[in-house]
Amino acid sequence: MKKYLLWILMILLLAGCSSTEPTASPTEEAAVADVSATATEVEAVEPTAVVDEDSAAIVPPTTACNAFLDNTTTLCETDIALVESNGLPTTHNMMVGIVSWQQQFPLPQAYTGDNAWQIPLDPELSDNPISGATDLFRGAIALAVNGVPIFNALNNRGDDAYLAGELDQWGGHSGRADDYHYHIAPTHLQDIVGTDQPIAFGLDGFPLYGLTEPDGSPVVGLDAYNGHFDDDGNYHYHATETYPYINGGMRGVVDYQGGQVEPQPHTHEIRPAGEPLRGAEITAFSQTGTNAFSLQYTLDSETYTVNYTIENEVYTFEFIDPAGNRTVETYKP
Ligand SMILES: [Zn+2]
Ligand SMILES: [Zn+2]
Repeated sequence: MKKYLLWILMILLLAGCSSTEPTASPTEEAAVADVSATATEVEAVEPTAVVDEDSAAIVPPTTACNAFLDNTTTLCETDIALVESNGLPTTHNMMVGIVSWQQQFPLPQAYTGDNAWQIPLDPELSDNPISGATDLFRGAIALAVNGVPIFNALNNRGDDAYLAGELDQWGGHSGRADDYHYHIAPTHLQDIVGTDQPIAFGLDGFPLYGLTEPDGSPVVGLDAYNGHFDDDGNYHYHATETYPYINGGMRGVVDYQGGQVEPQPHTHEIRPAGEPLRGAEITAFSQTGTNAFSLQYTLDSETYTVNYTIENEVYTFEFIDPAGNRTVETYKP
């Protein structure tokens, strides 16, 4: 790992950056990868803020310091990456397709400052891994590179959330605090970051790649945690299309308290948790403003709409029934 720190230090020196600035964005990463390919290509590539022509040979390794997308902020410290996000994806809608719904809505969360995600930069294999098959039913076990948390594939009742119809087409839904999270691997992120980049990191710090190896070859020899070692002896997890879908627990060293990995950000419930709405199917969702959203669902072949906004820390929900009757609920935390 010291090698990686040296790489990062060299790049920062060459780019004249302060060490406290956020590290390269994935877009910049892509350019970095391009310029390394051949000397001919170096001429054709625009220099970026991070790599100029003189340093074109340097390709920083992907770590939790530089793997997260632009809608997040990463502060890279000595042994940990602090990742800030609001927990909502910016490249896809949410909730559509859910047929087992507990009337929760995606709300932005304050995963910032002291409540940021903490990803170890020097992950260590644990002598006592924790299996997600029997544990870790609370809280997140990984963080997708778009800042959306990933929970155990088994929900807090031990059921496969995907097979239970609880998830949208992206593998996510909102929890009791209206916190959006995935329960299966967000493999769509491969289209954004490329198959050679991680789509998530376990909270133990090990990267999680997609359905293939970084070089595109098939994945073989996964252990019970959906992980294995690369040719250099480095451990990483993979997405799979069947259980456990994501990292099947914590193969690496983590602090564990009360059934979950700690520390991890806290969510903030601003309204009472909803009840299951049997027979409902979420059919549409859109973001209608910076902090304004609209969700539609059908129940008994009729369409219901919920519009909600967050303004000056006041959460306003407008419920519209099939007859057009409106009910408004407001919450101020
Ligand atoms: Zn969930
Ligand atoms: Zn692999």
